Amino acid sequence: MTGRNGDPAGPSVRVGHGYDLHRLEPAVPAGAGRPLVLGGLPFESPLGPVAHSDGDALLHAITDALLGALALDDLGTRFPDSDPASAGADSRRFLLDAVAAVRERGWEIGNVDATVICEAPKIAPHRGRLAASIAAVLGCPVDRVNVKGKTHEKLDAIGEGRAIEVHAVCMLCRQ
Ligand code: MG
Repeated sequence: MTGRNGDPAGPSVRVGHGYDLHRLEPAVPAGAGRPLVLGGLPFESPLGPVAHSDGDALLHAITDALLGALALDDLGTRFPDSDPASAGADSRRFLLDAVAAVRERGWEIGNVDATVICEAPKIAPHRGRLAASIAAVLGCPVDRVNVKGKTHEKLDAIGEGRAIEVHAVCMLCRQ
């Protein structure tokens, strides 16, 4: 077996994990929330993420999963929130950067599985179009992407609707 991530005898698959959380607030002037975007798609919501970029927690977690699988710097290190160029940025840009890193190193996306934890919006009715939107950015078949939703059972900040949390894992396979 020959791997290509700076390790000639490395494995033919790699696993990555990503996590993200954003505080949710009303839009300006009542709060500092941006319009809610998940997986690159806009959602109608009275609350939105407080973020330097567009605050797409789903794409941020998936980006960190890909970067983690490659053992590269994480999203916040590659695109610091002190960088004016990233202010309000479409987070698909960050994910595309990670996808390019995957391909440049000789890997392809085996699959991505993500869990969005929030009280609202409900994720279940949107799973298909979220997967399609993410797969389009990843440049992979839609059946390699899964998105599911959970609530936090009204407990803690997420359960009170004051935050959204995402966990994501990915598998990379050698090209
Ligand atoms: Mg984030």
